[in-house]
Amino acid sequence: MEANHQMTPTCTVQYGQTQIEYELIHSARKTLAIQVHPDLRVIVRSPNGVGRAEVEAVVKKRAPWILRQQRQFETYLPKLPPRQYVSGETHRYLGRQYRLKVEENGRAEGVKLTRGYFYITVRDKGDAGRVKDLLTEWYRRQATRVFAERLDACLARLRFLNLDYPQLTIRHMKSRWGSCTPAGKITLNLKLIQVPKDYIDYVMMHELCHLKEHNHSQQYYELLNRVMPDWRSKREKLNQVEVS
Ligand SMILES: [Zn+2]
Repeated sequence: MEANHQMTPTCTVQYGQTQIEYELIHSARKTLAIQVHPDLRVIVRSPNGVGRAEVEAVVKKRAPWILRQQRQFETYLPKLPPRQYVSGETHRYLGRQYRLKVEENGRAEGVKLTRGYFYITVRDKGDAGRVKDLLTEWYRRQATRVFAERLDACLARLRFLNLDYPQLTIRHMKSRWGSCTPAGKITLNLKLIQVPKDYIDYVMMHELCHLKEHNHSQQYYELLNRVMPDWRSKREKLNQVEVS
């Protein structure tokens, strides 16, 4: 973090259940401006001489917009160009890239990961849809195993919360890495199997903390900070990973 950022005072304003933190910068400008950064920081630039109460009132009024912006950045999924599912193309698994090798085999279809390659055997080499299905099935099998393992590892770090063992679902989601219902059902995006385990843990931990604190309140972030102090840098890196 840059030095000037650490020196900027952080203010908070309560909006419903949510506490909005923002950095307040006074300068010789004419109007007040609010920015939400991809790391979810809120920067408020205010003209000199505008009092704290007035700034707070504006931030409160813009709160729905601020939260919407943060939500968007929180769930931002960079996308790769559409995949063709042909030999030579690279696909990811747990953060590493593997080259696709599609081979024709009249009897057996399947996916094997060896020596840097995804070997996919398929009845008709030209059937890209079938290659995609086989790879997706393979991803799903790995995700079932890996996500369950990460759930146990993350829960072990949350033992002091005495959480009920959550139900875990894996789904294809267009714009979110994960979600959690108040009833304790956690859904993770199948695409997460393409990113490093560290980032899967970040999403898992984010959702598990919601089992205790259901919104993004100050208490929620205190809990997340306590169990995963480096979650911000993990999220930032996760948001830069391209998945297909
Ligand atoms: Zn959340």
